[in-house]
Amino acid sequence: MEFSGRSALVTGGSQGIGAATAALLAASGASVTIASRDLIGAETAALKIGTNVKAVGCDVTDPESVEAAVAIAAQATGTVDILVTCAGIVRDDLLFRMCDKDWDAVIRTHLTGTFFAVRAAQRYMVEQRYGRIVVISSTSARGSRGQANYSAAKAGIEGMARTLSIELGRFGITVNCIAPGFVRTAMTEATAERLKLPFDEYVALEEEQTAVGRIGEPEDIAAPIVFLCTESAKYITGQVITVSGAP
Ligand code: NAP
Repeated sequence: MEFSGRSALVTGGSQGIGAATAALLAASGASVTIASRDLIGAETAALKIGTNVKAVGCDVTDPESVEAAVAIAAQATGTVDILVTCAGIVRDDLLFRMCDKDWDAVIRTHLTGTFFAVRAAQRYMVEQRYGRIVVISSTSARGSRGQANYSAAKAGIEGMARTLSIELGRFGITVNCIAPGFVRTAMTEATAERLKLPFDEYVALEEEQTAVGRIGEPEDIAAPIVFLCTESAKYITGQVITVSGAP
């Protein structure tokens, strides 16, 4: 019960990596708030995880919506101790076809949405001189065909994490970034569909790229995220940790 008495907000917690993270935090004693645009989806995930988990409808591209979600998360214990930002979308296309709308949507959701969430949560964390923030990048930050918008946003998140660790470290707050490789979620299923590849074929191709011979499951990513929220991780900050089953 590492997180007993702690309050956590997980954006994008209704499914995939966010839901697995919310479940693990809750299993370790945290009061967890799941935030996603689809309130019913968030409520369904919260019910599935069980007690100590509540849901809030929140669009991370809207600063007021994010402020409200953070305030709701703080109701459980009077504050927010842990923030994990998993909200994300993809709008892949090659540069010559990428429209302004898809560029803006991805940058706004990932990069600006992460900024809105950390800015809102740090107010509570600075006040109490304690906090754990984990933001989510991707191996795509290093470059990925058809993902100029996504890789730019993720590279930006990595820079933001390093900078925020410097700004917030004095207040007992650590800020780290997890960069997953290919993980079995709705996001990668949608990508397979766009590529007109059966998901199993896509998975087989991706497995070849790993050292461990399999793709990631959401729980493979949730575990290191949650570790970075523990007391044992208090001297780790400003790091970008790749979790991809490969070097
Ligand atoms: P997912 O299964 O598609 O889940 C995405 C979550 O984000 C959902 O809960 C979705 O709920 C929420 N969301 C999307 N837009 C939102 C918005 N504007 N405001 C609030 N919530 C929003 O994705 P995932 O694969 O678990 O990905 C989670 C994170 O890991 C993302 O940052 C993704 O880029 C990153 N990542 C994933 C992989 C992978 O292979 N899956 C690899 C590297 C990095 P609503 O639609 O209801 O809002």
